[in-house]
Amino acid sequence: MIQRQEILKDREKQYPLTKEMESNLLDLLLKLNVLRQAWGKPMIISSGYRPGHFNDLAKGATRSKHMICQAVDIHDPEHALTNWLLAEPNRLKDFGFWMEHPEHCPSWTHLQTTPPPSGVRVFRIKPAMPLS
Ligand SMILES: [Zn+2]
Repeated sequence: MIQRQEILKDREKQYPLTKEMESNLLDLLLKLNVLRQAWGKPMIISSGYRPGHFNDLAKGATRSKHMICQAVDIHDPEHALTNWLLAEPNRLKDFGFWMEHPEHCPSWTHLQTTPPPSGVRVFRIKPAMPLS
């Protein structure tokens, strides 16, 4: 079973969770553990909660769902989990996740509990708008 500290990694001590983030985290953990059960293999969270400078260090998107406990990256060097999730057309939807396109995630699976702006289930992050 995936525990909250696997996602928080003590970062909430420096950047405490708001009530909204706490409820996001509960929803995320619930969905992850349903997935974990169905997948039936270990799942290592390579990146979870990324508040403040942690998101900058990870070169995360400026509005990354990692910042509000709505996203995790799962270590997936062979894309075994990615491929399993994509093997059935409704699988991601049934588990309640949206996934970043595997092309952008060479060794991990990025899952989030709320849709990206495009609403696309397997989405691509558009490059940031160039500053004029
Ligand atoms: Zn991610």
